[in-house]
Amino acid sequence: MLDIIENELDKFTHSNCADDMIFFQAMREVIVSIAPLLESDVRYKRFAILDRLTIPERIIKFKVTWMDDNQNIQVNTGYRVQYNNSLGPYKGGLRFHPTVNEGILKFLGFEQVFKNALTGLPIGGAKGGSDFDPKGKSDFEIMKFCSAFMSELHKYIGPRIDVPAGDIGVGAREIGYLFGEYKKITSSYDGVLTGKPFIFGGSLMRPEATGYGVVYFTQAMLELEKKEPLQGKICTVSGAGNVAIYTIEKLQMIGAVVVSCSDSEGTIYDCRGIDLKLIKEIKFAKRGSLKEYVDVHIEAKYIPVASYPDGGHAVWNIPCYAAFPCATQNELTKVDAQNLINNGCISVSEGANMPSTPEAAELLLSQKICFAPAKACNAGGVSVSEFEMSQNASMQKWSFEQVDQKLKETMQQICKRVALTARDYGVEGNYIDGANIAGFKRVADAMIAEGI
Ligand code: NDP
Repeated sequence: MLDIIENELDKFTHSNCADDMIFFQAMREVIVSIAPLLESDVRYKRFAILDRLTIPERIIKFKVTWMDDNQNIQVNTGYRVQYNNSLGPYKGGLRFHPTVNEGILKFLGFEQVFKNALTGLPIGGAKGGSDFDPKGKSDFEIMKFCSAFMSELHKYIGPRIDVPAGDIGVGAREIGYLFGEYKKITSSYDGVLTGKPFIFGGSLMRPEATGYGVVYFTQAMLELEKKEPLQGKICTVSGAGNVAIYTIEKLQMIGAVVVSCSDSEGTIYDCRGIDLKLIKEIKFAKRGSLKEYVDVHIEAKYIPVASYPDGGHAVWNIPCYAAFPCATQNELTKVDAQNLINNGCISVSEGANMPSTPEAAELLLSQKICFAPAKACNAGGVSVSEFEMSQNASMQKWSFEQVDQKLKETMQQICKRVALTARDYGVEGNYIDGANIAGFKRVADAMIAEGI
């Protein structure tokens, strides 16, 4: 292995920060993939691109003080990791979840840089959020928190500087409150956030974009790899949030049979096909738990997280043709990958960010399972966010069909770019390496052209 790679990997081994482990996991995957590129082009070493890309350009950390419904003062930590803006303004979601820390946001920001590069659109990479837990909070508390969060964040963002969007725990409601506060503080009606409700500047199809994009990417990949299409096939999906729900919706629209979904408490297995209307009611309208599903569909199975043996997840033990992990990072382990293989699964598409552990991904690739990595497969969300920025800047509104068509074309182009890059670098069929090399190359070439 090249010295430069050994040096970088060595740095991780000697870090004592447990929060950074997930960041190192993401970085390691990219560094290993791009080894042939570094060998073939000395400019990357000369311009210290790897060193420069393993450190975010800026990490903003701030206190968020807000008052709950009982008049108690609450304190959380807010973050924005502005990772790289070589290709355009910083762009990436905000996550509100108790597990949020600097390491997780560095990992997500790092991934976002390459994902955004793969779209071919003029956007840099960033990520942010807070350890605030929206679960169980009243609507008013969510509003108070969002206002307090934006009262600090507004100093660092702008339509040409940094344009945040949603992620886990941040949907149209939170984006609406954040936007309202930004407008109040700055007196400026800017397209400074994406994922806004349609009524004041949001793009049609932004809620659906990530999930629909995952399916468009998978269809393109299966066609390129000469596999049977998804129509009529059994599919398993994890998660029951934005990405999972719209992945299920598009799969059902094209005639696939989706038999599962899950949340942080358990998994639903419904062999007759998931009742998506009910899932939307439980998760979107009531913000409830999936266990309510079996109150309506008594033939379906609910498997609580606690009842499943260590090292594996119930969703990935269900036989399927194609699997779609859409919940969170590292949710699909080597045990899960083995279960999928044993049960005849031929394709895994990552809707969530890095949901497969490195060992799981390696096993799936070694068994020639079609594997669509997150930074390529879930890039539909950020693509439509960029379409929202374009609509805001030109004061236009595109139709649903227009956005859908552009999303489909974008996902097909990303798939083709990734597959061709993998072939050009001698790793045909390896979409992880293809995505990492193609994404890195675009960012690195821009960095070189812009000087140090
Ligand atoms: P949501 O908050 O809408 O949904 C997340 C879902 O995952 C919920 O059902 C949640 O369960 C479940 N979940 C969260 N943590 C766990 C866990 N540890 N174990 C099992 N289930 C869990 O988030 P999104 O759908 O927006 O995001 C999902 C993933 O997709 C994330 O990795 C995100 O970074 C990624 N992503 C999102 C994009 C977007 O446009 N929203 C774009 C690209 C990537 P519960 O309901 O119990 O909380």
